[in-house]
Amino acid sequence: MENKLVIYNTLTRKKEDFKPLHAPNVGLYVCGPTVYGDGHLGHARPAITFDVLFRYLAHLGYKVRYVRNITDVGHLEHDADAGEDKIAKKARLEKLEPMEVVQHYLLRYHKAMERLNVLPPSIEPHASGHIIEQIEFVKKILKAGYAYESEGSIYFDVEKYNQKFHYGKLSGRNIDELLETTRDLDGQSEKRRSVDFALWKKASPEHIMHWPSPWSEGFPGWHLECSAMGTKYLGEEFDIHGGGMDLMFPHHECEIAQSCAALGKESVKYWMHNNMITINGQKMGKSLGNFITLDEFFTGNHPLLSQPFAPMTIRFFILQAHYRSTVDFSSEALVASEKGLVRLMEAYTRLQKLTPSATSTVETAGLRDKCEAAMCDDLNTPIVISHLFDAAKAINTVHDGKGTISEADLTELKAVFKLFIETVLGLQTEKVASESNDAYKKAIDLLLQMRLDAKNNKDWATSDKIRNELTALGFTIKDTKDGFEWNL
Ligand code: ZN
Repeated sequence: MENKLVIYNTLTRKKEDFKPLHAPNVGLYVCGPTVYGDGHLGHARPAITFDVLFRYLAHLGYKVRYVRNITDVGHLEHDADAGEDKIAKKARLEKLEPMEVVQHYLLRYHKAMERLNVLPPSIEPHASGHIIEQIEFVKKILKAGYAYESEGSIYFDVEKYNQKFHYGKLSGRNIDELLETTRDLDGQSEKRRSVDFALWKKASPEHIMHWPSPWSEGFPGWHLECSAMGTKYLGEEFDIHGGGMDLMFPHHECEIAQSCAALGKESVKYWMHNNMITINGQKMGKSLGNFITLDEFFTGNHPLLSQPFAPMTIRFFILQAHYRSTVDFSSEALVASEKGLVRLMEAYTRLQKLTPSATSTVETAGLRDKCEAAMCDDLNTPIVISHLFDAAKAINTVHDGKGTISEADLTELKAVFKLFIETVLGLQTEKVASESNDAYKKAIDLLLQMRLDAKNNKDWATSDKIRNELTALGFTIKDTKDGFEWNL
């Protein structure tokens, strides 16, 4: 079958045939995490979405260079042009070296990604490691006349840029409206217009992360790192730029403006954006009390969760929705997802043990083409999953002795299941059974109950042995007044 991948390009707002600039090489850039705070679902969705794209492109035979950056400098919570960097603030409050803060969160992020079976990208560049490239990029924009200096900081001149290019083309924002509503600066600001954004910011004396530049001792604006690192590793023009929908404005809009201003052309051919995640119908937010970290999902240690959820359940749940649809998390929805995943994996295990017959009475022959067609249609993973469930029914029919499958069909079915479940969707069988499995939890509870009984009988040797062995396996055990609590 000929593979004809079609992807939705946010820039043109339509599905387009995927034609790489330099086939078989493909350049893919995805905005990675801001290394601050614990990994949460908002991190998991783009990571899983673009992991599946990365996997599928490789399956189609492309040689993908996947760059996912680490924002470890200059990303400010509310306004990229004012205030204090989150990493710097935490470092200052806790008297840590800023890179200590970065390392701490980066390790946690990588661990969570590994558990979600997200493949590492080809290059994971840090913004703080590319200050020189960012300064060079600012110089190019200044030279082209689309930026100005003010009090040691450099700002992008949005109005001037918009006279030649189109600021707002990606997000569909109206620049005239933006300029109109932001005209009344009080004269206190260094910027000509509040829509202008910082390319380089002079550091205030208390700012602890700063570097020398031709303009001031300071730090780069947030949007700049992706323009600088994207073009450094993928070239001035590359194929795909991805990220969450929340980054479309201002981040990606500013990236386009920076690249057009510096290079005189668009850098990115296809823009892809994953939709957002809500929790029980609400936006995620610390103030709403519904901010659940990935670790809390894995341990079940959050009031909104009825139980722990295996990383594979989280992954499966995300893939059950199309990446351009919103996903609403709730404990009930995750429980349903977990049941579905267990059913699918049960069929996958049964498939390995089926005995072939002379002929097939179950219909599985078209599965590969159907799954390929769904993936080629803008990565329609929910349709792939529904085809796999249809095939699971056929497997169970044969397993129950109510149907037969030929040797050829069986071989093909095994190959297709392996390809789509493991290689493309990235679902790992062994990680499904662990952690959230009921029998497993009951077995641990049983062991700890036996330990409690031993303790009550003053059988310290047995009680200590159970505790020590479980601790060595990575469990944390806590005695409470009603009994015990444990976590892995
Ligand atoms: Zn970015």
